[in-house]
Amino acid sequence: MYLLVVAASVNEHDMLKTLVEAIPKILNWIIAFKGSQDSKVPVVDFGSDYGLRNLKISEVIDIEEMAWAPKYGLKGIIDASIRVKVESSGNEANEKILPLEFKTGKVPNGQSSLEHCAQVILYTLLMSERYLRHIDSGILHYLYSDQTQGIMVRRSDVVGLIMRRNELASDILKASKMQQLPPMLRSPSMCRNCHHLAVCTIYHKVHGGSTESSGLGDVFDSHVYHLTAAHCAFLQQWDRLIDLEAKETQLVRSEIWHSNAMKSDRSTNCLSSIVLDASNGFSQQKSLKDNRFIYRFVPRILLPHNVYASKGDSLDAPSPPVNDLDCTLKIGDYVILSTESGHQTVASGVIADIGQFHVSVSLSKRLRLPSSNSLPEANDLLQEVWRIDKDETMTSFSVMRSNLVQLFLQNAQSSHLRNIIVDLEPPRFDSGCVFSQDPAISYIWSVKSLNGDQRRAILKILTAKDYALILGMPGTGKTSTMVYAVKALLMRCASILLTSYTNSAVDNLLIKLKAQGIDFLRIGRHEAVHEEVRANCFSAMDVQSVEEIRLRFNQVKVVAVTCLGITSPLLANKKFDVCIMDEAGQITLPISLGPLMFASKFVLVGDHYQLPPLVQSTEARENGMGISLFCRLSEAHPQAISALQSQYRMCQGIMELSNALIYGDRLRCGSPEIANRKLKFSRLKSCSSWLNEVLNPHKPIVFINTDMLPAHESKDSKTVNNPVEAYIIAEVAKELIKCGIESEDIGIITPYNSQANLIRTAVCIISVEINTIDKYQGRDKDCILVSFVRSSENPRNYSSSLLGDWHRINVALTRAKKKLILVGSCKTLSNVPLLKLLIDKVNEQSGILNVSHEDIKLEEHNVEQVGCC
Ligand code: SF4
Repeated sequence: MYLLVVAASVNEHDMLKTLVEAIPKILNWIIAFKGSQDSKVPVVDFGSDYGLRNLKISEVIDIEEMAWAPKYGLKGIIDASIRVKVESSGNEANEKILPLEFKTGKVPNGQSSLEHCAQVILYTLLMSERYLRHIDSGILHYLYSDQTQGIMVRRSDVVGLIMRRNELASDILKASKMQQLPPMLRSPSMCRNCHHLAVCTIYHKVHGGSTESSGLGDVFDSHVYHLTAAHCAFLQQWDRLIDLEAKETQLVRSEIWHSNAMKSDRSTNCLSSIVLDASNGFSQQKSLKDNRFIYRFVPRILLPHNVYASKGDSLDAPSPPVNDLDCTLKIGDYVILSTESGHQTVASGVIADIGQFHVSVSLSKRLRLPSSNSLPEANDLLQEVWRIDKDETMTSFSVMRSNLVQLFLQNAQSSHLRNIIVDLEPPRFDSGCVFSQDPAISYIWSVKSLNGDQRRAILKILTAKDYALILGMPGTGKTSTMVYAVKALLMRCASILLTSYTNSAVDNLLIKLKAQGIDFLRIGRHEAVHEEVRANCFSAMDVQSVEEIRLRFNQVKVVAVTCLGITSPLLANKKFDVCIMDEAGQITLPISLGPLMFASKFVLVGDHYQLPPLVQSTEARENGMGISLFCRLSEAHPQAISALQSQYRMCQGIMELSNALIYGDRLRCGSPEIANRKLKFSRLKSCSSWLNEVLNPHKPIVFINTDMLPAHESKDSKTVNNPVEAYIIAEVAKELIKCGIESEDIGIITPYNSQANLIRTAVCIISVEINTIDKYQGRDKDCILVSFVRSSENPRNYSSSLLGDWHRINVALTRAKKKLILVGSCKTLSNVPLLKLLIDKVNEQSGILNVSHEDIKLEEHNVEQVGCC
């Protein structure tokens, strides 16, 4: 509650005064309309056509009810959903469900009155969809004048509103598809007071508008005179890229609204065919303070058909590894709950926990089916088969658009960033600082654990006037470098905003800062924040007043938040001396801009040789959306880069491969111990010679060539996998464990999700981490096994497949500390130039291991077993 007051930037006492005045009025209204058996039933005027009606509330079904109507493209939050008895003179009372909207003022005249009526009519449409019944009226109550107005929905009103909605939708479609915006109103009286004037005029100019076409004269000029042709082209280009990407993502999102998709195969952004697990109680409330309700779902297949009979059964018993929750959903994601029986968007919440066979969703209210009368609604919920869809995409697009347009506003901060980012002005560095007099610089020289690269990187940060770029190659200790950079900046009393795209990257850095005793504030959703740093969130603090929150904000110098989290109202009007952004090579440019708006200078930490930002739309990717700000600035101003080149992960052989393919000999081993790392087997005895060859501790890299086997990829329209490769990978992994390697030290990676699933089935050892290459970025293991999958009699253009992206190959090759085992078809993979080079290099270093039918002893049933699961 206090957080909301701070966020709204309102005075605590003013807010209290408003509430103290309003609450008795609302209560009196409810008492009057709920009434007792004997009390007089209040009368509400439903207008000249419908007259006065007696109205009595029998139930307040919900408050602040979220209602989405995809059919109409509308959504809203209804003040109260009420069940009423309505009676007109001489007629029987009708029971209805209605929306109730409170307004704080008096009954207005003219335009505002129409807007309020239109709002209630739209709510009736939303509720009709949600409650699966026709809702024909609503109630407006004005608190100030204590007047209640009934609104009966007329068909002509609905048609008029839907037509306006369609016009708006058509304009949005034209804007996103053809980059055509509707003309400005040319009404100085309306435009001058419009909140959107600055953005509207910028877009008008960018899309070829002029002072004359704006109809605003000097007002228009004063808002756009600073924009050059290059600025307009930049905004237009990125606006188009965002549109392309949004369109692609919308296709996925539209699945939520199509009932057929409810029954379709799982997409990785959703979970379907899941049911509520009531075995440990129906819902758990975490604490009164959090006031959240946690619901646990499991795959339907794991529960007996009669769910009631399962009540009290334990799901803790080992479950078969089938129908596991394979999806990209993660803790902290916003999600929408729907039922497969047709109730769309029943509730929205946040993933609180996710495992292989369960997912828990945290809701701010009890879960309720809109059609349920009341209790025992739990039974209704248990009968349903549910679906969970991720609901974050639209938020990220609105953040992108808002960040982008901010860059072109007319203020000092936007102008500074525009010069750097759009005009690519060279960054300035302080060359005249007297090192010996700067405690931060003296401190960095005194830290013995820093190597030369790390020290130079921190000095680059300390001397930067605009920005610095830190190129953190794999295993070079970039997180530790950032920790010391933060410490040095704190010595200068600088305020610091730490950010990254993912919660895990932000928290990873914070955990290290915490270990160094550095105080910080973490802004983010409780569920999404790592438990080790949750105590630094306001949600876990015992704050008793707005003043305490402000005080805490003023005390702390380091604030951490994700790039999308910067929209938190808690950050409104905050300014920092420095913004440090981790994983910057993987963040799209429009997303990066948001945090940078809060700081005088910034530091981007990343590696543009690893995976670029994830872009779904091929057209957007081909037109530059995959070029991060880190990459843009690195290419424009290499002098701004400080590279971390001493790596502490890979042994010499593995590092040399990465150097030869990607880093051009820039990577070095941090110490002789790192260079000579080898897997240590407690027993090394294999029955087959090919496995002995694979496990040979003196060979840091082994390439198992499957060309002599029938090991072709298996492909359908959506997935590609390779059962024989999965089988070989499983055999090697089991042999490694037999020879004494801990399963936790083994990682298996592959470009394709379906192959990762196949290998999981084949390996059957939960502690061996099996994932796609993309999910392995930032991770490492002693021994990494890679399954390349693609293998065909007639290899087509594999350069356009996932294997064609050299960033991805680089990530795959740089995860292993001591041993890298590659499995694939040399013949097929050689069609990709980088992979051909890889095969040649491995051949030079340790030779290619060709395996045959006799070696592998492919037993039909084994491979089939792998392939059919
Ligand atoms: S400034 Fe733009 S959005 Fe605002 S009223 Fe005028 S035309 Fe409409």
